[in-house]
Amino acid sequence: MIRVRGLVKRFGGDIVLDGIDLDVPEGALVALIGPSGCGKSTLLRCLNGLETPDSGEIEIDGERLGPGNAARLRGRVGMVFQSFNLFPHRSVLSNLTLAPRVVRHRSREQAEADARLALARVGLSGFESRAPATLSGGQQQRAAIARALAMAPRAMLYDEPTSALDPERVGEVLAVMRDLDAGGMTQVVVTHEMRFVREAADTVVVLDHGRVVESGPAAEVLAAPRDARTRNFLGSMQ
Ligand code: ADP
Ligand code: MG
Repeated sequence: MIRVRGLVKRFGGDIVLDGIDLDVPEGALVALIGPSGCGKSTLLRCLNGLETPDSGEIEIDGERLGPGNAARLRGRVGMVFQSFNLFPHRSVLSNLTLAPRVVRHRSREQAEADARLALARVGLSGFESRAPATLSGGQQQRAAIARALAMAPRAMLYDEPTSALDPERVGEVLAVMRDLDAGGMTQVVVTHEMRFVREAADTVVVLDHGRVVESGPAAEVLAAPRDARTRNFLGSMQ
C-alpha cells in the first residue's frame, strides 16, 4: 500500500531523512519507533504529502507521489496528530463532514451518513452535536480518527496519537487502532506505547538519525534487538 525508496529530506544543511526504504503492505499495522529528533514525524509528513522530499520515491496504492497529485493522494492517507486538531467552533459531526463536503463535494446527506458510520467505528455514536471542548482527550482523539476515516482513506498515519492523553484515556485510542487493524486498515503508527507495539504491530521499524537501523516482526525486534541503537533506544524506554 505504501512503498518508499531512497527517501531523502533536508532542512537547511541538515539531513533529516537519509535514504529511507519502507514497505507497508495492505492491512499491515507498522510501528515506527526511535529517539526524539530521528525523523519520525518528518517521514509521516512526507508520506502524507505535507513535506516534499529532496529525493527518493513514495508510492501510495501504486501511484507515485509527486507535485501533480500530492493534494489528491493526501486525501487517500488519513493523518492523526498528537494534538487532535479538531475545529473548536464546530460540532463533532460538522468536524467530520467539512472536508468530504468541501474537498469531495459530497451532499450534506451523504457526508452526514458517512460521518455517522465513522463515529460508530470509533465508539462515538451519540456525540454528533457535541462541541469538541466538551469531550475528554480520548474522545477528542477518537473523533479526530473518525474525521480521517470519513474521507475513506486507503491508509492511516498516526503521530504519537496517545502522547497528549491522560494515562487512563490511552487504552481507548489504542483499541480503535486495533479494531481498524482487525477490519483490514493499513496503518503506520509513531508511538512510545511499547506494549501496544509488541501486541498489536505486525512490523516495527526503528529509525535513528534519519535511517532505518532495524525492522522486522514486532515481537522479535522488541525481544531480541540486533542493532545496538535499537537496544539503546529500548533501554531508554524502560
Ligand atoms: P521526531 O518526530 O523523530 O522527533 P522530527 O521528524 O520531528 O523527529 O525531526 C527530525 C529533525 O528535523 C529534528 O532535528 C528537527 O529539529 C528537524 N526538523 C523537523 N521539522 C523541521 C522544519 N520544518 N524545519 C527545520 N528543521 C526541522
Ligand atoms: Mg515527532
